[in-house]
Amino acid sequence: MADLEKLLIENKPVKCTCGGKLFYIGSGKYQCHTCDNIIMDDFGKIKAFLEENGPTPSMIISQATGVSTDIIDMFLKNGRLEITENSRYFIKCEKCGCSIRSGRFCIDCAKELSQGIHRIFFNEVGEKPKHSPKLQGSMHYLDKNKVSV
Ligand SMILES: [Zn+2]
Ligand SMILES: [Zn+2]
Repeated sequence: MADLEKLLIENKPVKCTCGGKLFYIGSGKYQCHTCDNIIMDDFGKIKAFLEENGPTPSMIISQATGVSTDIIDMFLKNGRLEITENSRYFIKCEKCGCSIRSGRFCIDCAKELSQGIHRIFFNEVGEKPKHSPKLQGSMHYLDKNKVSV
């Protein structure tokens, strides 16, 4: 996980192709001070792809954007991406193993954990799907106006 976060920071655009400075304008997008060019980081690329194509399995997102599935998984774990309700594939709660659509814990485990010494962040809690999980699924992004990593 730590290595992935490092990779994500390394993949973050710092300069425009024109050499101009970039400033963050939200949702994984950066704008050049000099030429107004818009440059996207990994999250921005995924988001733009999903906006255009709708919910898509992570393998296809990865092929289309060049962002590794490991990074897509990380966005799922930290709650920036969420698996769609009608998906057939979900990630698992780290405590009880039930299916969740994003984050690290299901709502029940989060409640239980928050009564103990663990501190659970809001974005670590994922909603349970209403259907039972099977195979490949698709995901979409959550725009919580989070600042990029
Ligand atoms: Zn530029
Ligand atoms: Zn759980």
